[in-house]
Amino acid sequence: MSEHGNPRKGGRFPLRLDQVASAPKPAAPRELLRPQAHLQAVERERRVQGGQTPQGVGLDSIHVRRRMVERLRADGLSHPLVLDAFARLPRHLFVDTALVNQAYEDTSLPIGLGQTISKPSVVGAMVALLCARPGLRVQLDQGKPLGSCLEIGTGCGYQASLLALMARQVVSVERLRDLHLKARQNIDTLRRNEPGWPDVRLVYGDGMLGHPPQAPYDTIIAAAGGSQLPQAWLDQLAPGGRLVAPTAHPGGAGQVLTVVDRHADGRLEQTVSGAVLFVPLKSGIT
Ligand code: SAH
Repeated sequence: MSEHGNPRKGGRFPLRLDQVASAPKPAAPRELLRPQAHLQAVERERRVQGGQTPQGVGLDSIHVRRRMVERLRADGLSHPLVLDAFARLPRHLFVDTALVNQAYEDTSLPIGLGQTISKPSVVGAMVALLCARPGLRVQLDQGKPLGSCLEIGTGCGYQASLLALMARQVVSVERLRDLHLKARQNIDTLRRNEPGWPDVRLVYGDGMLGHPPQAPYDTIIAAAGGSQLPQAWLDQLAPGGRLVAPTAHPGGAGQVLTVVDRHADGRLEQTVSGAVLFVPLKSGIT
């Protein structure tokens, strides 16, 4: 075959049309890649909202958060207050600039110092468990089912800010000073962007000791897992209160989510709900 490549007899250029091999069929239509779709949706939403300028790359938009909420709902999260809190809280304000594009994925993300912000679906499941505490007084605690809430492991402050929407007060303890300070900055930024967002009391200390000054708590949630539940947490759990924390799998590998209820008569009842993976609970401060 010559360089010009026509094996047919008499194949000289220019070829007559009937000598040309049939043209390849057009490929089946593919789904178009639309990298701008996300921003266009945000822009449409902006116009509907009357033209207020969204900041950043559209992550400030309720649109991206609603998509995350719809995925959480499809995966079984049904508590309306928890879903509403996820829809309101801008997660991208709490993650590193380099990771903002993943802020609304259902994934845990690094927040520095070897720690991670938990997956929204895991946060949602734990908070929904807290909201369903047996001591909830439906009339009195309306809109604030978490009552007085203690969080162990502030991290970047995302979960604490979510809890704040459903609690009368949130106290959150962090043992790493740099994260404690970063959480303060993040929550201040949030409160500047979203005036009226309830504040959180951030404590730099060893959360294994709980936080006695504000005890007892109606709800206690830990974002780090140890081999056992510290006695201080059980002591600081109010009657009618519920604690949710990852703990080492009894006699096995990995962690499970442990739920402890304190009944009105003071009795404690412990149940276990599913395997989880959290960073380790460590004692002392750094
Ligand atoms: N709720 C956090 C998740 C942080 S990861 C968020 O939304 O970002 C868990 C955190 O628990 C880490 O920051 C880790 O430093 C902290 N931690 C581990 N042991 C602790 C302890 N004994 N007291 C307080 N914080 C602790």
